[in-house]
Amino acid sequence: MFDKVLIANRGEIALRILRACKEMGIATVAVHSLVDRNLKHVRLADESVCIGPNPSPQSYLNIPALISAMEITDAVAVHPGYGFLAENADFAEQVQKSGFTFIGPDPDVIRLMGDKVSAIAAMKKAGVPTVPGSDGPLPDNSERCLEIAQNIGYPVIIKAAAGGGGRGMRVVESPENLVNAIAVTKSEAQAAFGDGTVYMEKFLQNPRHVEIQVMSDGQGNAIHLGDRDCSLQRRHQKVLEEAPAPGIPDAVRKQVLDSCVQACIDIGYRGAGTFEFLYENERFYFIEMNTRIQVEHPVTEMVTGVDLIKEQIRVCAGEKLSLKQEDIVIRGHAFECRINAEDPQTLFPSPGKVNNFHMPGGLGVRVDSHLYSGYSVPPNYDSMIAKVITYAEDRDTALARMRVALSELVIDGIKTNIPLQEELVRDEAFTKGGVNIHYLEKKLGL
Ligand code: ADP
Repeated sequence: MFDKVLIANRGEIALRILRACKEMGIATVAVHSLVDRNLKHVRLADESVCIGPNPSPQSYLNIPALISAMEITDAVAVHPGYGFLAENADFAEQVQKSGFTFIGPDPDVIRLMGDKVSAIAAMKKAGVPTVPGSDGPLPDNSERCLEIAQNIGYPVIIKAAAGGGGRGMRVVESPENLVNAIAVTKSEAQAAFGDGTVYMEKFLQNPRHVEIQVMSDGQGNAIHLGDRDCSLQRRHQKVLEEAPAPGIPDAVRKQVLDSCVQACIDIGYRGAGTFEFLYENERFYFIEMNTRIQVEHPVTEMVTGVDLIKEQIRVCAGEKLSLKQEDIVIRGHAFECRINAEDPQTLFPSPGKVNNFHMPGGLGVRVDSHLYSGYSVPPNYDSMIAKVITYAEDRDTALARMRVALSELVIDGIKTNIPLQEELVRDEAFTKGGVNIHYLEKKLGL
């Protein structure tokens, strides 16, 4: 096992990783920007290094500074968390070349899954269900593109192979607009991602977002840890998640879960990963794989009892997966509300000093947060400040528990989206389960 791990992240996930390392007896190195020296995990880490000024490119995305920090502290591995450099194959490669371990898959696997065209091809080969589409980059020939769209059937969506964060996509309703839409998406993709490759998929009208958690050791052993429903989204940002996804027939679920495990083995995947799907009319359609731990991993931890960060660290340290598929039993139901420092009316970020922070508690209540009374939320980074997670034997009880937990939560001094979450956990359609990815934006009138 690693002697010392550097945590290349901030906020709640840095604290989450720190706690896992401490439990495992691994020494920890926190890194931080200037403004972040008062972060909770920086105070709790064995060592800390200031890696640069506040803007992310100069600190949390500063690869040379991170590698130097590993050198001067004798850290042997780096945990990237999510966001920042978590899916940056060049970072993973430079970490390896410098003689350290990247806690994640091999750089080649990150690259394979980072390019959506090659990812879809690999998934198809492994038997993972994909969206009907162009099966590769769109050719330059307009006639051929029109033919492909005709075969798929309108509406179609043009997507950048290198796209991410909900950018580089365009829906086309009819043939008149196709050629122009392809040209515009291509030039946007070239400008935004330095790669103008685009492909085409059938546009699904009212899908849900259902994703599958996997863990794999890169030595031929892989398991799934069930699914999560993350359909409540605003501008492609997840707001409230749950596990398991409600109302999915057992046979449909089993088939897709098994295909994800097979895909992990086929691509030699190592670490924690998530296969993201759109789900419509009892069918799954793969859209992308995230080759890292995700924000919403706690709901899976609650229903499986598995510590995903610890397992991730173990397999990336070269240990064989200790869990077998039959060890994974999904029990009960869990929800996660993301709490953001934002104005509930304008939805703009609302940084500032937290005068008073009071966490909810009780049976089946978990709060992952780096907040403390007196902490100032800086304006420089993501606005998520806490995750409230509830667990119970069944969905209704877990949701009732979330209503109680949110009513106890106090974050004074800054504006937050707690009022929105309070409304969502009482929403009639959401309470029933199975709303689609457009539900929240429609409800908000966006
Ligand atoms: P990104 O990497 O930018 O997040 P994704 O491929 O995950 O891109 O797609 C982001 C979102 O775009 C999806 O969650 C979904 O809302 C929408 N989307 C993508 N592909 C399709 C499709 N074929 N049909 C309908 N919606 C889609």
